[in-house]
Amino acid sequence: KHEVALLGRSNVGKSTLMREITGHTFDTGQRPGVTRKPNHYDWAGEDFVITDLPGFGFMKGTPEDVREQIKTDIVHYVESNADNILAGVLVLDGKAAVDIIDRHSGPDEIPHTVELYHFLQDVEIPTVIAVNKMDKVDDRDGRLDEISERFGLVPPWKQWQDTIAPISAKRGNIDTLNDAVRTHLHAAKRDDL
Ligand code: GDP
Repeated sequence: KHEVALLGRSNVGKSTLMREITGHTFDTGQRPGVTRKPNHYDWAGEDFVITDLPGFGFMKGTPEDVREQIKTDIVHYVESNADNILAGVLVLDGKAAVDIIDRHSGPDEIPHTVELYHFLQDVEIPTVIAVNKMDKVDDRDGRLDEISERFGLVPPWKQWQDTIAPISAKRGNIDTLNDAVRTHLHAAKRDDL
């Protein structure tokens, strides 16, 4: 079965989103520092699976080398399965993403999230940036413009609705993500013909 790969830093709400997408329940806030394998689940009502990749970035109590290893494992998984991955979903915390990205941006530093987005582009996996926790964001358009700019997508974000999907997993508002993913899946199918 083809798959859609779900990526994101720890605590962005990946487990909550998985629950919304699949209808299963998952442990939220899984024990940090435990390297997890990619897990496959059926996307409710669709003929592909969603692959939950381990959360990356800072996790309390996780040594730097373990964090690097998690990121390396994610990259290897995606590289080896690129032919089978129809789309990527990169989940962000809409409330925290800009601060985290800016904190990790510098002459010699690219934030992991941005780096993974560019990597997915390089291996030609169409990717949706799911900006989660939008229920906590006041200036919605302003925030989404800032985020799109950080990923090299020239604002206004509304030009990028196939790529930027504001959601609130906790409230069950994920229609924008479903629509964006579907757009890419249809494009992928067309290319196969
Ligand atoms: P994971 O580490 O990425 O799997 O993140 P979780 O799904 O465990 O969520 C981390 C925290 O964010 C939990 O306290 C969730 O309840 C909360 N959370 C997840 N999605 C949302 C959302 O859409 N809005 C708000 N306000 N909180 C959320």
